[in-house]
Amino acid sequence: MAADRITGKVDHPPPGVGIYLHIPFCVKKCFYCDFYSVENHSQREDFLDAIVKEIDLFSGLHPRLDANTIFFGGGTPSLLKPSELERILAALRGAFNISESAEFTMECNPGTIDTRYLSDYHSLGVNRISFGVQSFFEDDLRFLERIHGPSEAIRAVDLARGVGFDNLSLDLIYALPGQTHERLLTNLQTALSLNPDHLSAYGLIVEPGTPLFNSVSRGTITPAPDTVEADMYGTVMDLMEAHSYSHYEISNYCKPGFECKHNLKYWNAEDYIGFGPSAHSYFDKERWWNVSSLAGYVAELKSGKIPVSARESLGRTQLLDEFVLLHLRQGVLKKDVIAQKFGIIPDPEFVADLVKSGYCIEDGNILTLTKAGFKVSDEIAETMLARHLQPF
Ligand code: SF4
Repeated sequence: MAADRITGKVDHPPPGVGIYLHIPFCVKKCFYCDFYSVENHSQREDFLDAIVKEIDLFSGLHPRLDANTIFFGGGTPSLLKPSELERILAALRGAFNISESAEFTMECNPGTIDTRYLSDYHSLGVNRISFGVQSFFEDDLRFLERIHGPSEAIRAVDLARGVGFDNLSLDLIYALPGQTHERLLTNLQTALSLNPDHLSAYGLIVEPGTPLFNSVSRGTITPAPDTVEADMYGTVMDLMEAHSYSHYEISNYCKPGFECKHNLKYWNAEDYIGFGPSAHSYFDKERWWNVSSLAGYVAELKSGKIPVSARESLGRTQLLDEFVLLHLRQGVLKKDVIAQKFGIIPDPEFVADLVKSGYCIEDGNILTLTKAGFKVSDEIAETMLARHLQPF
């Protein structure tokens, strides 16, 4: 894998698709979460049968694709018993050529794991673990309706390191209503004291359909103002930079070489195949997504049907929009790559304005966003796409 000399960013993930598995169970729904998951686990066995069947059906259509990343997300994948994980892995191995060096990530809720689970996951080949910590303050975790406390998150990291995980990521959420800068700094410093290889820090999003959204609509909760969120984002970037983490995507930071290879596939529009209810796939310029209902998913597979809800083929405009947006979210746009793929380049005057305004640095072929540019990367992408691309 080549890394860019200037930015240190990974250029080309190794060949092969990514595999995503959506485990749709949670102990309890969090207040802010709009991912598809259910608290009722009565269809657990049916789900396992269904996901194994879905993998088999896919391999009938696309036999033995090469794969080099596996990502168990959800939901709460760490609710899977090791024997259940083993069963899904056996199906994957029968369907894909999974490379020996594949990155294999498991998202874990600190409230659901113990040493035996972690040790068994590690023995089964999981080599990257991602803990949804969100905050180290008890009252924040109660507000978010997480099932764990701060001490369980710290313990989970210790246990994971103890059983041999040497690629460990933490998730934090900032810009909680009323959160102070001091609390944000405490969260970041506590996370850094645990020496994670990777950290994802997301501003709290008020997603429609969530209890948080309803509370905001009723006026019982006031979200953090955009200006506060932007300031906090600046604080996150400054602190992560001061600790020598690479800012390789708008919300993601890592030690050198610890980029999440699976997520890079999403951000670089590489192929990935998703299994499980609500899972999305992108393969050969086509995107499809599964039904967002466990009962519907199980029923479709019981009757031998692929549980796809809808498909779309991406045309040039969509591919270009995604290319610019996703690359700017990674902070880098290469003029020769966009020229080669789409026959266009950013308008030089627009680029000069971005440089003059302090949003980006132009070094020959490469545009690199500054911290100020990262704060408005989506706006830069939208403006560039609307009127500042020209034929090459
Ligand atoms: S544990 Fe994760 S997936 Fe489940 S409700 Fe909470 S945030 Fe959503």
